[in-house]
Amino acid sequence: MRIVLFDIDCLRPDHLGCYGYARPTSPNIDAIAKDGVRFDHCYCASSPCLPSRTAWSSGRFGIRNGVTSNVGAGADYYMRCRNYGGPHDDNQMLMRRLRQLGLDTISVSNFADRHNGYYFMCGWSEYLTPNLKGGGETAEEVNAVALDWLKKNAGRDNYLIHINYWDTHRCFKMDASWADRLEGTPPPAWPDDATARAYYEKYQGSFTGSGQFRNGKESPHPLMPTEVRDRATFEHMATGYDASIAYVDHHIAQVMETLAETGDMNDTAIIVTSDHGDALGEHGIYTDHVCADECIHHIPLIVKWPGVAKAGHADTSFIYNLDMGPTLVELHGGEAPADWDGASFVRNLRGEPGLDREYLVWDHGLYTLQRAVRTNSHLMIRTYDAHGYTAFDPVALYDMEKDPYQTTNIADSQPDALGRCDSMMNEWVSAQRAKGHVRQDPLMRTLEERTRQLTRP
Ligand SMILES: [Zn+2]
Repeated sequence: MRIVLFDIDCLRPDHLGCYGYARPTSPNIDAIAKDGVRFDHCYCASSPCLPSRTAWSSGRFGIRNGVTSNVGAGADYYMRCRNYGGPHDDNQMLMRRLRQLGLDTISVSNFADRHNGYYFMCGWSEYLTPNLKGGGETAEEVNAVALDWLKKNAGRDNYLIHINYWDTHRCFKMDASWADRLEGTPPPAWPDDATARAYYEKYQGSFTGSGQFRNGKESPHPLMPTEVRDRATFEHMATGYDASIAYVDHHIAQVMETLAETGDMNDTAIIVTSDHGDALGEHGIYTDHVCADECIHHIPLIVKWPGVAKAGHADTSFIYNLDMGPTLVELHGGEAPADWDGASFVRNLRGEPGLDREYLVWDHGLYTLQRAVRTNSHLMIRTYDAHGYTAFDPVALYDMEKDPYQTTNIADSQPDALGRCDSMMNEWVSAQRAKGHVRQDPLMRTLEERTRQLTRP
């Protein structure tokens, strides 16, 4: 079996055609979804980039692997065993485990370089950094390496290749003509003009409407507006984001065409996912990932797996990105390390009742320091440090059925629902700590680090 894992930074599922978007951003991803399973409620356990990929590569939640931030004390990976002979089983990385099961693992990514996440490189058969741009590389530059590898390795079997694109991360630097295909199709209806204007006035902080560029700088990129102050500038921003998705989707097609040309498309599984989403107006924030909100943690997951995945099926179960590891291990006849926090969703792939968590807990520790609980009906977010954002109360509760963009905090009017979510969070934190190998919660490590900096004489 060959596996191609497309890992696209900052990709929101609701901007993909296969997830119901009205614009033709993703015809090639949509075609993969048609032949596979689309997961409608997959979430990253920690955000943003480094915590998210650390979770699925280590198999453990951020509170257990030490990483809930891209930087500083909250990005101190917890390497529990440093004996000779490689990681101990209770410190096993996904790619190393897959190699034990007979898969070669290849990454085409500048991710570890960008985030000093060198532990992420552990266990791969080949780790190919396309260049030294550290996340500034284009999909064209990534494909120059990925397509070359696929052509040189035509006919080879039993490998996983991870291909990582960054173009959907602001500031949408591709040629503006990538937006041409979107003409005549609508961007999201929310936020309307009144909301966009009100948010512009109300909310301050990095990546809010007036905070897109530091020091009042003008945007140098045609697809990226300087500010988001009303509906027109929001549409400019949304169109830039959508154009970037179209650009990446085009390069995914090149990979698929190469697999077809080399005769390697048969018996090849395709996975499309992201590390996190992006805000597009939620809490007055645009095109960045600064909080533990639905728009940041909800990620696409599409799995085409010949002989396993039920074609065209949509699965609505609650799952995490780190459930991918145990799933891949089971599909190769192995057992996941006992210390991993994920669980297999193989039965979901077959279209059967399978993994479906009662609730999810996730966290963010780069800008805000937040931990959240998501149930079928509600999202509760606890903020330990708002990082200067005026949009976040210490505790917020949102009705996810009536208020998908989290506009109204109902914590005071629904104390029972708030209490249930709070109990879930406490239960979850206690359960993680009870697993052993406990260190301090990395969110609290970051909070202490910030406090020390504030109190430095
Ligand atoms: Zn990212």
